[in-house]
Amino acid sequence: MDKKWVIGNWKMHGSLASNALRIEALLAGYAVYAAQLERVSMVVLPPLVYLGQMQEKLKAQKDQENIQLGAQLVAAAEQGAYTGQCSAAMLREFSVSIVLVGHSECRQYLGFDASALGLQLRQVLLQGMRPVLCIGEGAAERRSGRTQEILWAQLDVLKALGQEFAATLWERLIVAYEPVWAIGTGDSATPEYIQQIHEWIQQQLGVVGKPPEVRVPVLYGGSVSAANVRAIMALAAVSGVLVGGASLQADGFLELSRCVAETQ
Ligand code: PEP
Repeated sequence: MDKKWVIGNWKMHGSLASNALRIEALLAGYAVYAAQLERVSMVVLPPLVYLGQMQEKLKAQKDQENIQLGAQLVAAAEQGAYTGQCSAAMLREFSVSIVLVGHSECRQYLGFDASALGLQLRQVLLQGMRPVLCIGEGAAERRSGRTQEILWAQLDVLKALGQEFAATLWERLIVAYEPVWAIGTGDSATPEYIQQIHEWIQQQLGVVGKPPEVRVPVLYGGSVSAANVRAIMALAAVSGVLVGGASLQADGFLELSRCVAETQ
């Protein structure tokens, strides 16, 4: 059985000093609970400028698969005159294996549109990493009954990629369903709602080209905490969680990850 995912998105938090404390505490906690935590795929996503620091710290692990390193965003282009950006090949040099594509905060503040996201996905795949395509509806879209319409439009980017990367896209793709109204609000979606939307997403992945024999992990994100993660992970359609705020305290993130391991 595939391991469940616990991905901690540190967003734009931290400093050299606080990251060192956090990752050291995570590594120490991991060693204590290794038998449990080896049953999940744990990933941390620091701000890009701290990837080198995290890579050094994570080298201390006996098994480099224990806590993996991921990135919050990637450039759409391979290289060149793109001031301020960071390419997929650069991320790969820092042992990044997982990359978020289309987090709602990037869509909102960096203006990533469907064509940019398609190119970002392409770069991640070309560098042999796993993309986490983040999709989710806003509060007004939900209220007006447009959730499926919005999610469908956000999944559309996979159609063309499926043709170009037939051999790898579906094996490597991870989808994160993150309703925008649930991110950072403390107002997580209910288990019933999550199950319903996740089942629908799995069906639509088939429509955009996923072969029936492949199961793409669909994660949930949006105010996940140690208090609600068991109920979320009990849902058959949920393959893991993408965690923002609750990933910033090492103890809390370890506890949350252990809860996920127990549902395995
Ligand atoms: C996120 O940023 O992807 C997220 C889910 O944040 P939070 O857990 O804080 O809602």
